[in-house]
Amino acid sequence: MRVVVIGGGICGLACAWRLQRLGAEVLLLEQSARVGGVMDSLEADGFLFERGPQSFLSNPNLLELIAALRLNDELLEADRRAPRFVLVRGRLHPVPMAPPTLLTSPLLSPRSRWRILTEGFRKSAPPEPEESVAAFTRRKFGPELLERLVGPFVSGIYAGDPERLSLRAAFPMLYTWERDYGSVVRGAIQSRRQAKPANPKTRPVLSNFRNGLRTLPAALHRALGDAVCTRTTVHAIEARRADGRPSLTLRIASEGRHEALTADAVVVATPAYAAAALLAGVAPGAAEQLAGIEYAAVGVVNLGYRSEQVAHRLEGFGFLVPRSEGLRTLGTVWTSSLFAGRAPHGRVALASFVGGATDPEAVRQSDEELLTTVSQENAAVLGITGAPVVQHLERYTHALPQYNLGHTQRLQAVREELSRRPGVFLAGNYLEGPSIGNCVDVAFRTAVTVAEFLGTKTTTQQPN
Ligand SMILES: Cc1cc2nc3c(=O)[nH]c(=O)nc-3n(C[C@H](O)[C@H](O)[C@H](O)COP(=O)(O)OP(=O)(O)OC[C@H]3O[C@@H](n4cnc5c(N)ncnc54)[C@H](O)[C@@H]3O)c2cc1C
Repeated sequence: MRVVVIGGGICGLACAWRLQRLGAEVLLLEQSARVGGVMDSLEADGFLFERGPQSFLSNPNLLELIAALRLNDELLEADRRAPRFVLVRGRLHPVPMAPPTLLTSPLLSPRSRWRILTEGFRKSAPPEPEESVAAFTRRKFGPELLERLVGPFVSGIYAGDPERLSLRAAFPMLYTWERDYGSVVRGAIQSRRQAKPANPKTRPVLSNFRNGLRTLPAALHRALGDAVCTRTTVHAIEARRADGRPSLTLRIASEGRHEALTADAVVVATPAYAAAALLAGVAPGAAEQLAGIEYAAVGVVNLGYRSEQVAHRLEGFGFLVPRSEGLRTLGTVWTSSLFAGRAPHGRVALASFVGGATDPEAVRQSDEELLTTVSQENAAVLGITGAPVVQHLERYTHALPQYNLGHTQRLQAVREELSRRPGVFLAGNYLEGPSIGNCVDVAFRTAVTVAEFLGTKTTTQQPN
């Protein structure tokens, strides 16, 4: 009973690892020369930069994985109290992180604060058809909260456009709270009351590794050993009958050779657009739906400076930029303030993001234009003088899937068609949230479903 996992990003790696622990025979095929997908780190002039994601919020599955891979000693945790900032009228203001500070924050006018304070005493229901994050925020709390906090927050997670992101798909909790309690504040209070007491050992903390995020995929690669084949592209999945029983055939190309591979189950752990191409033959309706998922383009600019070049103290996480500020930078993480070892002594490291669904043109600029724009914008906000001592640009034309209006129905249609195609499973960041923690959760859950499927298959095929 063989399972083939297609794609060696965190979703595919975590799924293959879990499947192996569940006793399945697994093969993971990855088209590029290394595993990790968008999770990768690089060293430049003594700086340690992240090419894509900068950190992860730990969760129980991630912590289990890290412990099993013996990476606990490598783990770095950021200070939980590190403040985040938002740029309003050219000045950085701390983001209110808890409800009481939201009600006293100078970022919001008395009118917005009043609407937040009284939301719990009003009753409303989510409208039909579904609503965008922007429409929801305006309806419940007014335009200021959208512009100054929700919009920047949404670009920090999804690189998304709040006018098009679906509240139900992107923030299902908020949708459920309003539906079940008539108020998000009452829903939040109720869910807090009902939640099990938090285990201090698994409380979410912003984390990274001593040698960068590449540590996790590299350790998974080591653990999976020969089960991983890099430089191997899957071109198509076909449904066949082999030895009188249904099986799946994969058309693969590895270092110029074309081959066919049979499998009892396949987990497609690629981005949605790549999954669409792979499923076209076996589940054309699902393929069409997956092809319709939009992706935002993002540029990641890593910058290194001598400490004395930067006037700002960089105490905290970094800052987000509302679109109304007119900057191209979506936000900047003060990476050397969050984790040790990101910059040599006497230097500081920053990572900025540009583009996203609200500014796709930004990523089409030349390298020079993009690097100059980002370093000038950071210089104005943080009081930086002179050029960076080192800089690095990474472009992603398809960085993050957009959970736009219609996403929930789209995924429902995909699931319905795949339920009629036994043996084909999905794991991806377009399913249950884009964060690394969401990816590991979905990967583990898929692995259990696949193992159960293989179990039933074995039982039904065993002679009496
Ligand atoms: C710029 C950026 C910043 C981010 N910041 C954060 C952050 O700070 N914190 C956080 O938690 N998350 C962040 N994320 C999100 C998170 O990193 C991703 O959602 C997650 O890493 C995606 O993992 P994946 O396995 O789904 O996809 P990927 O990493 O894209 O991996 C998919 C793999 O499939 C392979 N593949 C594709 N097609 C085929 C094929 N036909 N055959 C074989 N292999 C194939 C690809 O080569 C790739 O290796 C960020 C993402 C980006 C892009």
